[in-house]
Amino acid sequence: MNYYLDKETFLKLLLTLRAQLRGDVNLLLDTALDVAISDPLSKPAGICRTCRATWRTSVAGSVRDYIERLIDRKEALLYHVENALERLDNGSYGICQSCETHIPAEWLFSVPYTSLCADCHSKQAAA
Ligand SMILES: [Zn+2]
Repeated sequence: MNYYLDKETFLKLLLTLRAQLRGDVNLLLDTALDVAISDPLSKPAGICRTCRATWRTSVAGSVRDYIERLIDRKEALLYHVENALERLDNGSYGICQSCETHIPAEWLFSVPYTSLCADCHSKQAAA
């Protein structure tokens, strides 16, 4: 870890980010549920549980898909944040997982959950 990296600062940053992402996911899940409940299409009457479940997923499908994609994205980010917290714990935080150089603090401040330096990150994005 870079000598100028303050572990506590990044721990706080990552924990805040994780709390925010968890809140976002919960909010999105609530919204997805609201969409399912307040569906503008009338609910077919007298159908079995399984059919009702199918109906729930088929109607308002596009809105739900959209929300689910948002949830997926947030959860992917959460996964990266969890990994970063693990790296903070085992002392590998701030070291590029690809070229093993120290990641500059400015880059960590803009992407605190990154496991790659800016160079390796752009190489990977371009690949
Ligand atoms: Zn690198």
